[in-house]
Amino acid sequence: MNVHDSERISGLLEQAGYERAPAGDDTPDIVVFNTCAVRENADNRLYGNLGRLRPVKDKHPGMQIAVGGCLAQKDRGDIVRKAPWVDVVFGTHNIGALPVLLERARHNATAEVEILESLDVFPSTLPTRRESTYAGWVSISVGCNNTCTFCIVPALRGKEKDRRPGDILSEVRALVDEGVLEVTLLGQNVNSYGVEFGDRYAFGKLLRACGDIDGLERVRFTSPHPKDFTDDVIAAMAETPNVCHSLHMPLQSGSDDVLRAMRRSYRSERYLGIIEKVRAAMPDAAITTDIIVGFPGETEADFQRTLDVVREARFSSAFTFQYSKRPGTPAATMDDQLPKEVVQERYERLITCVEEITWAENKRLVGETVEVLVAVGEGRKDERTGRMSGRARDGRLVHFATETVDGESLAGQIRPGDIVHTTITYAAPHHLNADGPPVAHRRTRAGDAAEAGRSPRTPGVLLGLPTIGAPPVVAAPAAGCATH
Ligand code: SF4
Repeated sequence: MNVHDSERISGLLEQAGYERAPAGDDTPDIVVFNTCAVRENADNRLYGNLGRLRPVKDKHPGMQIAVGGCLAQKDRGDIVRKAPWVDVVFGTHNIGALPVLLERARHNATAEVEILESLDVFPSTLPTRRESTYAGWVSISVGCNNTCTFCIVPALRGKEKDRRPGDILSEVRALVDEGVLEVTLLGQNVNSYGVEFGDRYAFGKLLRACGDIDGLERVRFTSPHPKDFTDDVIAAMAETPNVCHSLHMPLQSGSDDVLRAMRRSYRSERYLGIIEKVRAAMPDAAITTDIIVGFPGETEADFQRTLDVVREARFSSAFTFQYSKRPGTPAATMDDQLPKEVVQERYERLITCVEEITWAENKRLVGETVEVLVAVGEGRKDERTGRMSGRARDGRLVHFATETVDGESLAGQIRPGDIVHTTITYAAPHHLNADGPPVAHRRTRAGDAAEAGRSPRTPGVLLGLPTIGAPPVVAAPAAGCATH
């Protein structure tokens, strides 16, 4: 979500007449920090960066520094009190105000702090400068109606606001028209999409409607929530050819007691039941997750339940986190906070368990031919190994060799955004290698755009009126409703 917000910030500033500073320019006219408050230490890192910029700004009068995002929403005026050389502070609900705030701060020669309590305009109506030529984020909702006790998101992003299906599909089409092959539908809880306009099947319909967009080759989404996951979404994933068979579904804990304390209203049985249905409908599905270790009150028996679920679910990858307090969340003041050593020790056991499984799951792909959407390279590592990289349809990272059987290198011909078919020869816990010659290479419009140095821009004005709040019900295209 934050990465996509940064794309909007770039788009807005470019529309306001600013130009991107060349790489390596250490005295740009404006520096914007888009902060995140989900991980620990975000504030230390922000104030550290601001401290380093102070002498630069002192030497370059007129330089402006802006701070936005979740930490700005949380700390508000504290930021300019602690770092009075900051010019603008803006929140998660008013990204669109940034150019005006910069202008006002310059004109009045004083810091501007503007934080709104709810959304100003739906952020997807803002111009966006996309970082990728081949893959794009598309917001379907912002905010969250859940109250997980460890999470700061509802306090900083507000209640769920759903975007109208027609606006979402227009943005997807606009991206595809620019050559984008893959979209990721974004929401804090995609499964509750439609709650605002009273359609609990809206997300499945949206996936099916994406299936009707010519030229759109891959559809992904993040994140689903086990509480709201309905079977029609599994059917839509299985029956819509361009929807990828990959599912990132946060588990957080395998213990029902811990889930209760986290105020996550599903239980491990329901979680595993969803996975079973996904596997029955899509045997090739790659399932990934998020897990928190060491939540207050977690016992060794609770932790063992998490390991049990990890073994049963057979994840292809997992983001693992050590619980740490977030001021402002209910869990921060719970009794039974665990000592750091206990959390660390469980965390290490969890990583070992997860890697054993992800490695075994990856090894099952050795010998299979996979379709890879070529990504911008992994820099020097790819140069050293002579490989290129990309993601398979199931989301796995693949490093592939570019030499043909005749020893000719295709490296100069394969561009980011092209599609390559290649056969997996080696599996590691976190990636796959394909060291034989590519089986096939397809040049794409996304590859042409990458070669020409063009990145897609979606001007907000083309996407319909800035609509927030309870939108009118808009029927999804016929095919999208076929089964309902
Ligand atoms: S569902 Fe996700 S975003 Fe919403 S409160 Fe829970 S963890 Fe936070």
